[in-house]
Amino acid sequence: MIKRKPVFPNVIELNYQAGERLGCNVYLVFDRNEWLLIDIGFEDTVEEIVELIRQMDFPLSACKGLVATHADVDHVQGLAKARQLLKAPTYGHRLAAEPLATSDPVKTYAQIAAQGIYLDMPSVKLDHLVDEGDRITVGGLNLEVWHTPGHTDSQLSFRLGNLLLSGDNIYRDGCVGVIDAHHGSDIAAFVKSLERIRASDVEWLLPSHGPIFRKDNALLDRTIERVRGYLHMADFGTCAADWPLMRDWDRELAEGRMPE
Ligand SMILES: [Zn+2]
Repeated sequence: MIKRKPVFPNVIELNYQAGERLGCNVYLVFDRNEWLLIDIGFEDTVEEIVELIRQMDFPLSACKGLVATHADVDHVQGLAKARQLLKAPTYGHRLAAEPLATSDPVKTYAQIAAQGIYLDMPSVKLDHLVDEGDRITVGGLNLEVWHTPGHTDSQLSFRLGNLLLSGDNIYRDGCVGVIDAHHGSDIAAFVKSLERIRASDVEWLLPSHGPIFRKDNALLDRTIERVRGYLHMADFGTCAADWPLMRDWDRELAEGRMPE
């Protein structure tokens, strides 16, 4: 047996627990005789994670469910294997259901052909679809489901008291989850999700990558301003709403202005 190292009451994060980086953050929420996992990560760490959970003396049969924060391969490649191993139902947003069921290589980010990235993405069924306002119970706890699209259309966050398991919305250094048209990023929605987190009275953000950190409104403000800027910049191509330089150029062309 190994000693449990909760990061907060009722919450263990498996990288913190292991004392090394296994992959994306894997949160184990537990109460009474039930526990639930939020994300599982890559397939090749599933057995190690399950073994850690067993050694922490959680009965494997008491797994209430396996939650996908969204359909990206680095969060869910191991989901099919974990579902089979733990015989537990999967949870996720309806917009994640199809890419997961069909192993959609583009939407799950399993294939980035231009970079020679070809990862397996085993097909997996979502047994329970959850959406904004739903609650997932674990023992006597209630996880409040937030739909926070932006990074992907299916991105979920989960509130537990003063904690927000905040997915790929924002990390401790102010970076955000990848913005890429191919996997359903939406910059305007991203700004709204970040503003919602900013406006909330949660005290801690438990992201899907990297260290847990205190909610910092100054950091959120800087990040919101940066991401909002992308709406009017060429940096993320078709994710932008417009590109004012093209309006300026139209005018300059019409005026007959030459390079000066
Ligand atoms: Zn991610």
